Amino acid sequence: MKKTVLAFLLAGSMTLSMTAISFAEETEVSTEAETAADTAMEEMTEAVTEAAGSYLTDCYDPNGPILLEGAMSLETSEMIAALENAEEMYVGPYYCVSGTYKGYPVVVLRTEQESANAGASTALAIEKFHPCAVINQGTSGGHDPELHTFDIVLGKNSVASSAWKSTPSAEGEGVDYKAIEMQGVYSYDPEAGEFTEKVDYPCDEELLAAAESVTDTYTEGTIIEGVISTSNEWNNQIDRMLYLHELTGSSCEEMETNAAAQMCANYGIPFIGIRILSNTGIYGEDFNPETGAACQGYVLNVAEAYMAAKAE
Ligand code: SAH
Repeated sequence: MKKTVLAFLLAGSMTLSMTAISFAEETEVSTEAETAADTAMEEMTEAVTEAAGSYLTDCYDPNGPILLEGAMSLETSEMIAALENAEEMYVGPYYCVSGTYKGYPVVVLRTEQESANAGASTALAIEKFHPCAVINQGTSGGHDPELHTFDIVLGKNSVASSAWKSTPSAEGEGVDYKAIEMQGVYSYDPEAGEFTEKVDYPCDEELLAAAESVTDTYTEGTIIEGVISTSNEWNNQIDRMLYLHELTGSSCEEMETNAAAQMCANYGIPFIGIRILSNTGIYGEDFNPETGAACQGYVLNVAEAYMAAKAE
């Protein structure tokens, strides 16, 4: 730590009988004590970063359960009903059930709606259960004109679509909803040892491969690989849906996936978002709650395929 001292010296009224002069001088003061304090601070920062890194890594257990998430009961009840040896509990205020599915350890977590709940409940469940992987799944609204209700998006990527900066404009000029530039959201980067900003949160390739391996078990719609757009907003304006599709490549919108992806990135845990279209304003298709069960049925097959591949 260096202290910069700006010294103003006024001579004249001093012992030297000179004409008064004033000058400013930049002086670097670095005493021995300060150097020692600097070194101690640097060492401590390194130690904390290292400890945080290994602590986060310790929360990932390759033999732990797979964590299956849904925001609402209509997005979790089928998965819970499918569990054997079911045990109900809470992480913080969030309801979850641990058990087995086809012999594999599974935890189903009801994250509640929206990003803060999804992020917090995911982090708490990671701390408690040390999962081998996380799937965040459930309903969504369409952004891609190719998609209809009951189609499923495998989130090859997820973005926080409310993380943007707008181009400045003056009072009275109105608001151009397209005048935005995407920003990232921060997650822990173990190599950098700090939180870094990322726009893209790509899914885990093995989870995606597991999801691809069971697409033929799903018969209620088509399944595509795409981008899941997350924010605490429900868009009913078709031009906005289409613009988000154009700007971020988003296939659908919902309120949780990217927050869960962010927490999994923090802890280095494999993650994928899987979202069924429950509605799409583009075709005037309103929220259909039956999509919740359809998505869970498919996700159970994905979980089984993933756990089976890992057990090989
Ligand atoms: N309140 C309604 C629907 C839930 S709305 C009900 O209880 O029946 C918000 C939830 O639905 C969020 O968890 C979000 O992830 C999901 N969702 C479904 N379609 C959405 C859309 N078009 N936009 C945003 N979120 C959507």
